Amino acid sequence: MNSTPRTFPAKIRQLEALESRLPVAHEIYPAIISEVKRARAGWRGEVSMDYYYRQLDLPRQHYFVHQLRLARNRDFFQMDTLLLTAYFFLILEIKNLTGTLTFDHEHQQLLREQEVFADPVLQVQQQAASLKVWLQRHFGSSPPIYAYAVMTNENSILKNATPHPLHRQIIRPPALRQILQDLFEKERYHALNAEVNTYVSTLRTAHRPLKYRAMEKYGLDRADLKNGVFCPSCPGMMKWWYGTWVCPRCENKSRDAHRKALDDYALLISPHISTGECQNYLGLPSINSAQRLLKKMNLPHSGGTKSRKYHLS
Ligand SMILES: [Zn+2]
Repeated sequence: MNSTPRTFPAKIRQLEALESRLPVAHEIYPAIISEVKRARAGWRGEVSMDYYYRQLDLPRQHYFVHQLRLARNRDFFQMDTLLLTAYFFLILEIKNLTGTLTFDHEHQQLLREQEVFADPVLQVQQQAASLKVWLQRHFGSSPPIYAYAVMTNENSILKNATPHPLHRQIIRPPALRQILQDLFEKERYHALNAEVNTYVSTLRTAHRPLKYRAMEKYGLDRADLKNGVFCPSCPGMMKWWYGTWVCPRCENKSRDAHRKALDDYALLISPHISTGECQNYLGLPSINSAQRLLKKMNLPHSGGTKSRKYHLS
């Protein structure tokens, strides 16, 4: 299987940092919890597909591109998985939803009890249409593009509100093998007007990653977040005691528990920190201890002694 390695989504890292930094009583907290659950489930669903991709018998010339996000006019479109072959392209929209899912294509929706989601088939068909235009613009023409919505959750029950042709575009992961066999058979005489690798490099260069900012999205600011170093083994806060973090609650000791706290800072607040802000944020007893701790981390920094900023990421 030729593909670029997946990178753990920055969105989930930010939401997880918020999950620990936002007080449980904060009005936004429940929204963060449900969003992080949704995002983690989505990520698990996409990763679970790798097993099925590895089982496929694909010709040498193929490539999987994940999470590709392209600009079209002033908008963007993103594809969970794009498989490029020398005959056709295939887009997969991966959904890891649990429960009884009723596809109501006639009304362009997916229902789960009282919840309403967009029809994933229409979503992936829109992506295919956008990609086609994009390829025509960059390569003069577009290979045939096929699109399917893949329901990865084994605990989900799929139902069809009324018989509808779009329902054929909703599949379970094991169906992918037969679908690909049929497509290779159908498109065997189709030739791309460039090498698969050329498409891959052009597409990857054009990738515009989403700049997700959880704080902005939820209207949060610095003051909403808890300061301090969390104990890795209990819900307590650690205290700095002569060069070591100590948890007064469970007596756990750590020399580098501040790293996680500073990671949270970089994810949510700023990629730079001053010594004074570091003292305040980590709850250090003095500016000197903050200075020693930051120096010891060997972080790149800028500015003179007074206005020095340390770069956290
Ligand atoms: Zn503890």
